[in-house]
Amino acid sequence: MSGLVEQIAVNLETVRRKIAAAAARAGRSADEITLVAVTKYVGPEIVEALVSAGAVVLGESRPQQFSAKAAALRHLPIRWHLIGHLQRNKVRRTVPLVEMIQSVDSLRLLGAIDRVAEETERRVSVLLEVNVSGDAAKGGFDPDALEPVVRGLADYAAVRVCGLMCMAGLEGGQDAAREHFARLRQLRDRLTGQCPEGVALDELSMGMSRDYEVAVEEGATIVRVGSALYEGIAR
Ligand SMILES: *Cc1c(COP(=O)(O)O)cnc(C)c1O
Repeated sequence: MSGLVEQIAVNLETVRRKIAAAAARAGRSADEITLVAVTKYVGPEIVEALVSAGAVVLGESRPQQFSAKAAALRHLPIRWHLIGHLQRNKVRRTVPLVEMIQSVDSLRLLGAIDRVAEETERRVSVLLEVNVSGDAAKGGFDPDALEPVVRGLADYAAVRVCGLMCMAGLEGGQDAAREHFARLRQLRDRLTGQCPEGVALDELSMGMSRDYEVAVEEGATIVRVGSALYEGIAR
């Protein structure tokens, strides 16, 4: 193993161990939680090292750079998740490359993804991004506007809407993050009764390097971790 792969393997193991410990504290199994290794900071060489170290599901936030990276790494068995804002004019290029789009922040975007998924017969999973912190600079659905959205999900039959995603606000540290994550979970619980037949909001994507342990304690099924995986690595 090269030094790079070794260091990443150590970091990955540390993150996995902390996820397992947080899950245990909450009486959950670590198997319920998917780690998305975020690669937006690093080039293809480090992504290859990440995959060699055992990462399977990778996340990218910038659609433009993502297409180029996914093309360069086509030979690897990567399950890509898009986690950043997607413009509608990039949907056609993005859908064939991803397993999941976590950052659906409008019905127009959902409609565009649904059309491309249907035309290309691609099965794509999506999460609805929710602005739980109420931060004006953040994207996502207003939590109070989600009920009619969820009731109308049967109209988007080619995509699989399977949960909610959020980012905690930047202010307030872990306590504020915990509150935001709990809010997303409670929102999901409330919306579950409104889901049309065949739709279930099982997934909660929440938590990044600074707060993924709190997110797991609050019920995250997906955590998106970047920086913590690259500690001790020149990038
Ligand atoms: C960059 C990013 C992450 C990972 O952030 P880190 O703090 O580096 O772990 C998670 N989610 C989204 C949406 C991101 O853009």
